[in-house]
Amino acid sequence: MLIFLLMILRYGIRFPQGYPVLQPAATSQGPSTGFHPFQLLMGRPIAIIQKDNCSTAAGGLGSGAPYPDMVGPGFSPMEADQVQGTLYLTFDDGPSENTDAILDILDQYGIKATFFVVPNRSQACMERLQKIHARGHTIGVHSFSHDYTAIYSDVSAFLEDFAQAYQLILQATGEPPELFRFPGGSKNAYNRDTRQAIMDEMTQRGFVYFDWNVSAQDAQNGITWEQVYQNVMDSLGQKQFGVVLLHDSYGRQTTVQALPRLIETLLARGYRFDRLSSQVPPVHF
Ligand code: ZN
Repeated sequence: MLIFLLMILRYGIRFPQGYPVLQPAATSQGPSTGFHPFQLLMGRPIAIIQKDNCSTAAGGLGSGAPYPDMVGPGFSPMEADQVQGTLYLTFDDGPSENTDAILDILDQYGIKATFFVVPNRSQACMERLQKIHARGHTIGVHSFSHDYTAIYSDVSAFLEDFAQAYQLILQATGEPPELFRFPGGSKNAYNRDTRQAIMDEMTQRGFVYFDWNVSAQDAQNGITWEQVYQNVMDSLGQKQFGVVLLHDSYGRQTTVQALPRLIETLLARGYRFDRLSSQVPPVHF
């Protein structure tokens, strides 16, 4: 056993293809979202990387790699049945003044959530990052520039952008972010040629990314709060495990307005809410 543990510390673990895939309770009743919501790992090997041993376990970072200290904890998922009945609200593109209102609503219901942020160096932004962190929510990297053409041009451009957001979060909260969400999701029209290399780089560094399997479509201009609410309910369908895409950016007040009714309805249905971590089985497109 001891030898086995030492082997894990020394080399990490690589799961073979076919790592258990979560089965939703009744996907057939849920609306089609254009992808299989619980196709978690895309059949690729996932490495568990020990943080304090990453130079060995990550291996590929090698000498002279950019941002050698920018590493995550790796992926150590809990059992699929442990997340049944759990919803993970995620807010992209903030923080903004809407974040303040959302934090108050989440507190009101005693709920933890996740914020994939696009930080800047303003004092207001730094204070909001501190506030999100202090109230016990997860902060993940979304992007610094959110400029698809730039960040997806190659691995080093992606890393450079990621590093800026990563450093701002670290400065504000004192805690290095471990999770991220690709702008536009992990598969988009801008990263067709570079996504695999970028994913390999980030996985090797021990960062975990999340797409979503429930969408509010709240980034559409002119959408009403009733539509935001209905989109989530329709997109959730009968799923028993959901990573819900919402936005807390400027101008998305309808998301704030929809939130109390959304939370109340979902609590009444028996769901619980939690924040994402590297222990939650990632939802990948
Ligand atoms: Zn975004």
